Amino acid sequence: MELWQEELQQCVRTLDQLERFVAIENRDEMKRVLANMRLSITPHTLKLIDFANMADPLLLMAVPQAKELSITPEEMADPIGDDAKSPVPFLTHRYPDRVLVYATFSCSHYCRFCFRREKTGAASPGPSTYDMDIIEAYLVAHPEVDEVILTGGDPLTLLDAQIEDWLVRLRRVPTVARIRFHTRVPVNLPSRITDNLVEILRRYQDATHPIFIVTHFNHAREIATENVEAIAKLVDAGIVVRNQSVLLRGINDDAATLTQLFKTLTNIRVVPYYLHQLDLARGTNHFRVPIAEGIDLMRQLQGTVTGIAIPRYMLDLPGGKGKVPLSHPFVRQTQVSPPHREEGSGVVDANGLDWTADSPFGETVQYVEPT
Ligand code: SF4
Repeated sequence: MELWQEELQQCVRTLDQLERFVAIENRDEMKRVLANMRLSITPHTLKLIDFANMADPLLLMAVPQAKELSITPEEMADPIGDDAKSPVPFLTHRYPDRVLVYATFSCSHYCRFCFRREKTGAASPGPSTYDMDIIEAYLVAHPEVDEVILTGGDPLTLLDAQIEDWLVRLRRVPTVARIRFHTRVPVNLPSRITDNLVEILRRYQDATHPIFIVTHFNHAREIATENVEAIAKLVDAGIVVRNQSVLLRGINDDAATLTQLFKTLTNIRVVPYYLHQLDLARGTNHFRVPIAEGIDLMRQLQGTVTGIAIPRYMLDLPGGKGKVPLSHPFVRQTQVSPPHREEGSGVVDANGLDWTADSPFGETVQYVEPT
């Protein structure tokens, strides 16, 4: 058995195991929380959590809370419409050029804010070989799809042979150029990034058929030596690694924490890609940061954080309507200049557009755009 598999067996999965680290005040309530969303904390993350501090961001992301039982009317079982856009089982086709494929609904570690918690949290079964055949046939029938996102759950919790099976199938479809893995194992189970796994990934990419790893760090304290080493293995093998974070109350909802997260990721060669507004998943409202606050946080980063470290702040619309960027309106059109004006002895073409901009340093700047 490999180290990562041993670590999976050592995860904290029951209340009795959790009680060795943290007091459980109301066991019945906690049982109801776990009935909605299962528990797993990996040994790696256990080492990083500060159990002496009940407000520790890593603790809040991993340890179940009674607040998960409060569900607001706006929250939904399927907050971004995965099922509404699912033409065949285990596949969502929301955008014309790409599909999501749910390779498994298991994860090494269950995040208490998970947006897909109704499936990951309930141990839903993953696709069978028959389902995989149907998915492959769907891709062949839809040549407009040139990107497949293997997600879940966490596809890198599958065995090497299962991962290779997916890669063989996807590379058999000539129109699929890009393959992405959406995974949190580089965060919670870095030992899973074995030499053999990296070699498999490398084998199924070439100069025009890349493989991307999109991972999910939310706080700089999640980036320990083992995580840096796992990322380095991937990047050194020519795999592009990007990161999606989620904006979370009490975890990363201030400019200093986000700055440290995005810069640390950039320093370890991970591209900060998206900062997500938390989806309207049931029982997650205690983690939600208002959109206006999120927009203002991103405004604060503009000009103080190097551009290569700033992700886009995104809202995934309910009902499978797609993602839209959320951003501060730095520039406003203020007036349209008259098309011509007299100057000296002649008429000059001066039909410029006037804009007013907020500079990153707090100044109001006028900008005239020639047309
Ligand atoms: S790793 Fe991803 S899918 Fe799994 S519980 Fe965390 S957020 Fe959900």
